[in-house]
Amino acid sequence: MKKLAAGNWKMNGSLAALTQVDALIAAEPAPECEMLLCPPATLIAPMTARAKGSRLWVGAQDCHAKAAGAHTGDLSAAMLVDAGASHVILGHSERRADHGESSELVRQKAEAALAAGLIAIVCIGETEAERDAGETLAVIGGQLDASVPAAATAANLVVAYEPVWAIGTGRTPTLAQIAEVHRFLRDRLGQNIGAEAAGVRLLYGGSVKPSNAAEIFALPDVDGALVGGASLKADDFAAIVAALSAA
Ligand code: PEP
Repeated sequence: MKKLAAGNWKMNGSLAALTQVDALIAAEPAPECEMLLCPPATLIAPMTARAKGSRLWVGAQDCHAKAAGAHTGDLSAAMLVDAGASHVILGHSERRADHGESSELVRQKAEAALAAGLIAIVCIGETEAERDAGETLAVIGGQLDASVPAAATAANLVVAYEPVWAIGTGRTPTLAQIAEVHRFLRDRLGQNIGAEAAGVRLLYGGSVKPSNAAEIFALPDVDGALVGGASLKADDFAAIVAALSAA
């Protein structure tokens, strides 16, 4: 299994920001792992062109569950492939919160992504209230069960554990808490998709930065990271990728 460092630019970036891609590629930080950036949909094609010949993969942040039709403003998985995407983030907590996305919808989107040949990065995570109530494993177990398609394999599925309260806040769970959740996810995924679960990349996401990346990547069952804010700066993302590559 190759580990994966994935960056989520969210609703940030412009053509001018693609100089960050040039800098990241020039830094060549990823000899031992895979490196992915998911910019806004407007930048998928130009970023793909910019990354040609490098080891940088380009992905999307969402797709529609349907293949085509009257869905104004939406993008199908096949359209993302057409633009150059190899991966798609699905069920990010910001989409679950801002757009009311349920795990059932996330699974339908993941099925559409797999059918189009994309690798689905399915995000799950508890809120702070759920953690405080001792419900973390029940919540993420339920999200995992309902979000992951039955046809998922190690080759087409990545799971990102992202505690909602750690995203963009500078706060992270303890290393023991991350390790507990990732061990649980590996086992639970095994109940869903069998032996394939052993090869599915389990990413941690939530305030990963150059200063904490190495200790997180040293944990068992942490196979990479989904990085928001720190992926916008080539130097920071390159440092995180280098830490993963060395792990
Ligand atoms: C994210 O939104 O997926 C994320 C992990 O953000 P940040 O790294 O900024 O916490």
